[in-house]
Amino acid sequence: MTRRIPAKALSRLVDDIFRAVGSDAPEAAIIADHLVTSSLVGHDSHGILRVSKYVEWVREGDVIPNRHAAIAFEKGPATLVDGGFGYGQVIGLEAMEILAERALSSGLAALGIRNTAHLGRIGHWAEHLAAAGLVSVHFVNTSGFGILVAPHGGSDRRLSANPFAAGAPRASGAPIVLDIATSVIAEGKIQVARNKGERLPAGAVLDGQGRPTRDASAFYGDPPGAILPFGGHKGSGLSFFCELIAGALSGGHASNPASPTAGRLVNNMVSIAFDRDVFGEGAFFAEDEERLIAWMTGSPPADPAAPVLLPGEIEIQTRAEREAHGIPVDDATWAGLAASAASCGLNAVGYI
Ligand code: NAD
Repeated sequence: MTRRIPAKALSRLVDDIFRAVGSDAPEAAIIADHLVTSSLVGHDSHGILRVSKYVEWVREGDVIPNRHAAIAFEKGPATLVDGGFGYGQVIGLEAMEILAERALSSGLAALGIRNTAHLGRIGHWAEHLAAAGLVSVHFVNTSGFGILVAPHGGSDRRLSANPFAAGAPRASGAPIVLDIATSVIAEGKIQVARNKGERLPAGAVLDGQGRPTRDASAFYGDPPGAILPFGGHKGSGLSFFCELIAGALSGGHASNPASPTAGRLVNNMVSIAFDRDVFGEGAFFAEDEERLIAWMTGSPPADPAAPVLLPGEIEIQTRAEREAHGIPVDDATWAGLAASAASCGLNAVGYI
């Protein structure tokens, strides 16, 4: 069964759960806003579903509440922030504020984050910079956790799902935001297929012997299987650069099962932000962006019922629908949320 719950009710519940496990009021509000927004825009895998894992990690000492972005290095346009294993939602927000201020004053700036817990939905950070008037790109990796993806042409797990995001503000209206993992599918979708006894899409997964399979249980065999990168050599190459730029440049470690943080979900992210006038062509950018949008979306749809969408548009549509009708919460997600609440002495049912 799936129930629809208003975003505000979920925010209150999530906020109270994080306060109960040690976050101060501003931190709990930031985490709740990030997770509930991810669910609102349709990225359920990065929304309230994550609450129970985050609670587990904080209790195990893998995530430390009330940490703040600490500047570890700065030179010219570059700043490195150490997250001290604090919540990615807080460290990410503080880091984006530093990046925005520096990019707006210098035209462009780069910022690395290392040693932070899960940074969540990466498009959130591109949206934040777009709201400050900045164009941005973001490369993300995890150093020694969640290694699930085979490189193109390989047969076992060497890389993580390594997301890439980019954002651009528009003269008016919502920003354009691309936000993609570099794996064909998320591991969560394989779990769901196994639970339902459904076949996986073709071309998504290899079994433990490196052979293509549509059998979800083959992925969880011994030895385990691997997920393929999207777009063959192209996704594999982009994932490599997520590792190198986010993991190695920041000192946070590229994919490495022996890294000092292996076994603990640590995200590293390197973001570059540009003022639209960085090359003295800000007015041209605004005009050319609108022209490009009209040109691209003017392509006659291959399926008349499905017009060409801009990156970020589907999230805007999903958000409008879920703001009006509530966020769909399936039984498993609700059970996880209710159990986390109960472990903090809270009754989830009382919030909805
Ligand atoms: P996805 O496959 O749903 O792709 C989303 C992107 O594609 C968005 O930019 C969306 O606007 C665009 N899009 C979707 N349908 C479209 C269409 N019909 N036409 C044009 N554009 C379209 O997302 P994903 O790759 O499964 O990633 C899901 C989320 O997981 C992301 O938010 C990502 O940041 C997050 N993630 C985070 C981590 C981490 O370590 N923190 C790791 C992996 C993924």
